[in-house]
Amino acid sequence: MEKISMETAVKLCKDGEKLLQIEKKDVVHERLKMLVSYSKKHSPYFRKHYSEIDEDNFTLEDLPPVSKPELMKCYDDWVTDPNVTYDGVFEYVDSPIESRGPYLGKYAAITTSGTSGIPMPMVRDSCHNIIHGALMQTRLFRGLDEHLSDPKYNKLAAIIFTDQKVSSYSSFLKIKAANPEYSDNMLAISMQDGTERIIQKLNDFQPDFLTAYPSTIGPLINAAEEGKLDIHPKAIGFSAEVLSPEIYRRVKEVFNCAVLNNYCSTEGGEAAMTCDHGRLHINDDWVIIEPIDKDGNPVKDGEWSEGIYITDLTNYVQPIIRYYMSDRVKITRECECGSNFPIMEINGRVIEEITIGGKTLSGIVITHALQEVKDIYTYQVAHVSDKCFELRAEFADGADKEKILNDFSKELNGYLLNNGFDEVVVRLSEEPPKRSERGGKTKEFVREF
Ligand SMILES: [Zn+2]
Repeated sequence: MEKISMETAVKLCKDGEKLLQIEKKDVVHERLKMLVSYSKKHSPYFRKHYSEIDEDNFTLEDLPPVSKPELMKCYDDWVTDPNVTYDGVFEYVDSPIESRGPYLGKYAAITTSGTSGIPMPMVRDSCHNIIHGALMQTRLFRGLDEHLSDPKYNKLAAIIFTDQKVSSYSSFLKIKAANPEYSDNMLAISMQDGTERIIQKLNDFQPDFLTAYPSTIGPLINAAEEGKLDIHPKAIGFSAEVLSPEIYRRVKEVFNCAVLNNYCSTEGGEAAMTCDHGRLHINDDWVIIEPIDKDGNPVKDGEWSEGIYITDLTNYVQPIIRYYMSDRVKITRECECGSNFPIMEINGRVIEEITIGGKTLSGIVITHALQEVKDIYTYQVAHVSDKCFELRAEFADGADKEKILNDFSKELNGYLLNNGFDEVVVRLSEEPPKRSERGGKTKEFVREF
């Protein structure tokens, strides 16, 4: 892919908003053709996978879909740059952020979170980074301070998992490292800190732009209403989990500021963003989302899907083309905001709540506690009695199960004790994760009492 400047990317994103449906179809197909040709030429995996595809005459649906387990088996053949390797990315991700440049001098590299099983390396080229940056600037921050996420002009706070392998935290650290003279304008607050400390830190810091997970905002809404939390941000941004219409409304009302949400994944980037009616619109000029049923057939507008195929038209180094993800979505078209981009509702990443000793917390604690565990292919955490959890997993050969169990238990109990919960027992089951009777999927968290 040729180099693209930020000015060109911003122009393409603005032009994309004005395209008629039929014009957009052509633009998207042209972009897809370029990506498919490039992938066939430079990725040994796609050369084989697309051997039957006539590059000058194909439709999106002709391309055979791909899945994470399949691509993970041949990671080094999947990427289009032979210098990018599975081990190389993990080594890079583990190195200190402050002292490292881009991966191989030109790429962004992260790993997927453990919510979908084993972590996967993800490398993005400058084309992806610039276009997805331009999407944020032109669509997510529309009508707001254009320097909203720039620490030179605004104070930025993030309530976040302060772990550099988590992509949102590593981006935060990268911005901080790139702006050493304004590093006092950036504050990362650990989610593990507990509500009282989070409130105190926010009151002291007074952010202009606050980012958080939807599951952490509840206590802050209450604190703001009680007058304990006194902040006046220009905007509050969410990501990673589903932001319910109720939370959207409450945050807007209580903090009296813009509420931003985006649907992004490590694999597909910034796929959809909220308008000021609180609905997510798909950036379908750059990211294609195909809702599918359990057999991979397309699902009509207005119906819930069982999964999606996602295609990112911007990333040439690690192509994501009709890549399966288990998110359940529903697409509709009309929004009061007048946007031409389809609306997407998501049901796939609703993180369940856990109740221990009568107190509730977000299930994201569970997924985070397992996120760093390398030798697990799939897992399920069952809440089997008030203070007991059971880990069911498929492990890699030679995995140290005792260590995995201990690490998980330590991480989980650390969070619980910090947040005023009682300690829990975590035991290992000999059984693999149980599949649901409907659809046969495994859920990462189940309550069984
Ligand atoms: Zn809208």
